[in-house]
Amino acid sequence: MGQATPHAAPLPAPQASVPRHAPPSIPLKGEVCTQYIRCNKSGCRCQTGSPHGPYYYRVWREGVRVHKAYVKSEDVAAVREACQAYKALDLRLRDLRRQREQVMRDIRGEWRKAQRLLRQSDQRGV
Ligand SMILES: [Zn+2]
Repeated sequence: MGQATPHAAPLPAPQASVPRHAPPSIPLKGEVCTQYIRCNKSGCRCQTGSPHGPYYYRVWREGVRVHKAYVKSEDVAAVREACQAYKALDLRLRDLRRQREQVMRDIRGEWRKAQRLLRQSDQRGV
């Protein structure tokens, strides 16, 4: 007793490694924008010639606030895809909401019709 058993169960195999900086495979709001930057170092090529970049940012809006998140260049394609996926879902959601509004209007219409019929049959004393 007190000693670790030499035949302890082996540790589970490590999970397939997920790249640490892999963008999430979930839909993302917004779009990827490209920026070029001029630094303030005197004598830098960007002062007279080509600016630094491109740098990529995902830009999205929450209410009145605009958010901006840096996107590594190797993630740009995946993040753009995620943004498109979000857009598609958003459109689908709007469509479903419109359909729901129509169904609600139909139900209210049917409800009023049923109430009218009930009143009429009450008046006839049926
Ligand atoms: Zn510079």
